[in-house]
Amino acid sequence: MSEVTFTKPGTLTPILSHGWDHDRSWTLDSYRARGGYRGLEKALTLEPTQITDMVKASGLRGRGGAGFPTGLKWSFLPPDDGKPRYLVVNADESEPGTCKDIPLLMANPHALIEGMAITARAIRCEHAFIYLRGEVAHVYRRLLAAVREAEEAGLIGQGLGPNGDFNLRITAHAGAGAYICGEETALLDSLEGRRGHPRLKPPFPAVAGLYARPTVVNNVESISQVPGIFANPEGWFAAMGTEKSTGHGFFSVSGHVNNPGQFEAPFGITMRELIEMAGGIRDGHQLKFWTPGGSSTPIFTEAELDVPLDYESVGAAGSMLATRALQVFDETTSVVRVITRWTEFYQHESCGKCTPCREGTYWMKQIMLRLEAGRGKPGDIDLLDEIAGNIAGKSFCALGDAAATPVRSGIAKFREEFEAGLTTPARELFPYEASAVF
Ligand code: NAD
Ligand code: SF4
Repeated sequence: MSEVTFTKPGTLTPILSHGWDHDRSWTLDSYRARGGYRGLEKALTLEPTQITDMVKASGLRGRGGAGFPTGLKWSFLPPDDGKPRYLVVNADESEPGTCKDIPLLMANPHALIEGMAITARAIRCEHAFIYLRGEVAHVYRRLLAAVREAEEAGLIGQGLGPNGDFNLRITAHAGAGAYICGEETALLDSLEGRRGHPRLKPPFPAVAGLYARPTVVNNVESISQVPGIFANPEGWFAAMGTEKSTGHGFFSVSGHVNNPGQFEAPFGITMRELIEMAGGIRDGHQLKFWTPGGSSTPIFTEAELDVPLDYESVGAAGSMLATRALQVFDETTSVVRVITRWTEFYQHESCGKCTPCREGTYWMKQIMLRLEAGRGKPGDIDLLDEIAGNIAGKSFCALGDAAATPVRSGIAKFREEFEAGLTTPARELFPYEASAVF
């Protein structure tokens, strides 16, 4: 945790990150001392529909990348028929550059557990799951300990609440480390014990999800923001951010800045402000390009530094806010080399179910490796653009689009560097030593 920059009151909105620097901030005692579980106390006095209505009114949108309205998603569940319905928290954070859920889970796991309890009450679910990416065993241990603490304190369990009718069991499950299992339907397959392959949508999980039962799948940060909506006065959450992108969120600034870290701020903050808070571009260097939402979003340059970071403004400027993974690259960076690494990642993680992605990512990788080595063939750049165009919008799930996007965006903004790759290796144009981050 030492590399995380903690948010500063006054300049940002340290809400979920409030108390991260307290001694043993992840414990129930510390969370309660900071006002934790007051939101659940209030929610248990409300009817499930009232809870959903309050979340809808807050304007909270999914923080996993797509920005789908959270309360609206909950309201898609069919009426309760007395059979099981599930809540599944997507903690399979794996998008290159995305690094907000893991520190949140490490520093403040009870915010998630409290949010899960409120959500479960809203959707009448009695068994909820957390699907965690497999590589982070330390986070898994912390989650298991936090769930146990909540059970022992009687915050989750059987026959709870003022009327004794609140029942909730939480199961934390560690995956096996496949990026595709972050896609919500592949995640459900994996949780059911099968190989993670995306399912056809519709039906959406809200109608037929885990074990073919109505299921809400939400991101860690989305659910962790729910308690604040209930613990604070009405209108508190919606008063932050912009009209359509309300509230606050983590902006994860990484790469060539002096102080990379998590900055919790209202939506609508700009990249210029965030880079200033991160101590500026590393000394003696200039900004070259940056990603607004991880490797799958079209890249931005200096021209977009003042775009408000909300879903609408970033979309209007030609990219996506997605996971707010703000990766900063200075002039020592080879665009071709960065995109080659991302393309290798997507090719490796492609599940192989559909042809455009399975074949296309492999083909793109071969061309990118040629260009990186300075051995591109005439026509390679147009071919690359064409292959990416045949993946985007023609693949079975969002991974195909994610793989095509950086390639197309890189060619559009830095075509001259791709052309240089026909004759000159990236290592000659941009030596590794110069671009090292740490
Ligand atoms: P999506 O827009 O298809 O769906 C968003 C959510 O809304 C889903 O839960 C879906 O079930 C629900 N939904 C949408 N329409 C619905 C309807 N008509 N009825 C019921 N529910 C409906 O997006 P997606 O494919 O789930 O996610 C794509 C996003 O994931 C990308 O924007 C990307 O940023 C993000 N992503 C994040 C990571 C990460 O590590 N956090 C990794 C890869 C991708
Ligand atoms: Fe699998 Fe890629 Fe097709 Fe998604 S787009 S189903 S990851 S092959």
